[in-house]
Amino acid sequence: MSSRREFLKKTGLATIGVAATAAACQTENKKHISQTTTRPLAISTWKNGMQANEAGWKVLNSGGRALDAVEQGVKVVEADPNDMSVGYGGRPDRDGIVTLDACIMDETGNAGSVCALENIKHPISVARRVMEKTPHVMLAGAGALQFAKEEGFVEENILTDKAREQWLEWRKTSEYKPLINIENHDTIGMLALDQKGDISGACTTSGLAYKMHGRVGDSPIIGAGMYCDNEIGGAVATGMGELVMKTLGSFLVVELMNQGLSPQQAVEEAIGRIVKKIPGYQDFQIGYLAINKAGEVGAYSLHKGFNYALYANDNNQLIDSDYYLK
Ligand code: ASP
Repeated sequence: MSSRREFLKKTGLATIGVAATAAACQTENKKHISQTTTRPLAISTWKNGMQANEAGWKVLNSGGRALDAVEQGVKVVEADPNDMSVGYGGRPDRDGIVTLDACIMDETGNAGSVCALENIKHPISVARRVMEKTPHVMLAGAGALQFAKEEGFVEENILTDKAREQWLEWRKTSEYKPLINIENHDTIGMLALDQKGDISGACTTSGLAYKMHGRVGDSPIIGAGMYCDNEIGGAVATGMGELVMKTLGSFLVVELMNQGLSPQQAVEEAIGRIVKKIPGYQDFQIGYLAINKAGEVGAYSLHKGFNYALYANDNNQLIDSDYYLK
């Protein structure tokens, strides 16, 4: 028996793969045909993914590395004060402090991340330095800030007046209720396939608005908010991070593609896992994007309202994702 088949047998993943395919095929067929594109391609979560893709495409189109494309892409959104859930301008936690989470992965499987980072505009670039310059994968809080400063990043106030005013308004009731598809879900997650065929991914966020101080979501967790395997493909997640963390969503999507599922089947199965395992899932939004080495893409969410930007064949488009709760 081949070692892959032995592994499947031991872990039971072969059965999962079959069950997933069967479940996926019960609904209409057209959803399960992953869109095929050519190389290079960039795909990003939400409407702000359009501007991320534009920046990433410049890198990809000139023959650059997928890693540089995703970093350059998400940096545009980190710097945008109008995006109130990423980087500069992000909404604070309930104590009025903006804390940032980000992760990045390259085509060699190397990974870097930061969580609960304060006062730095580009957490994705700090995550990249963690990946490239330290023996670690993740730095948190004060240690991440210390490292960022040692690397020359400048501390600055990233709480804008608008975000502060909204927070002050929120404090009048201090009601904590994650809302579905409202602007507090526009974490940017981005995947790219470059001309050489290499895949990289990035994910960056200020997390849930008015979260508890110290709360870290899925976005900086390798395998939860984002995962890439250059032999298979990549996945990113957005939405209520706790549900993604409990199911290790992005790793699950990539592993399902490893079992032979298309990107579309894999993201649908990962949403299906949340539906099966997490009571009360209806109260939250989750969206997944996936790509594989062949340039096929998949997108799926729990609720209506998730959209994503796909830049392929010289065309950047905003596309509404298919969804589970019809
Ligand atoms: N996934 C992010 C988090 O839970 C939030 C989001 O995507 O909007 O921190």
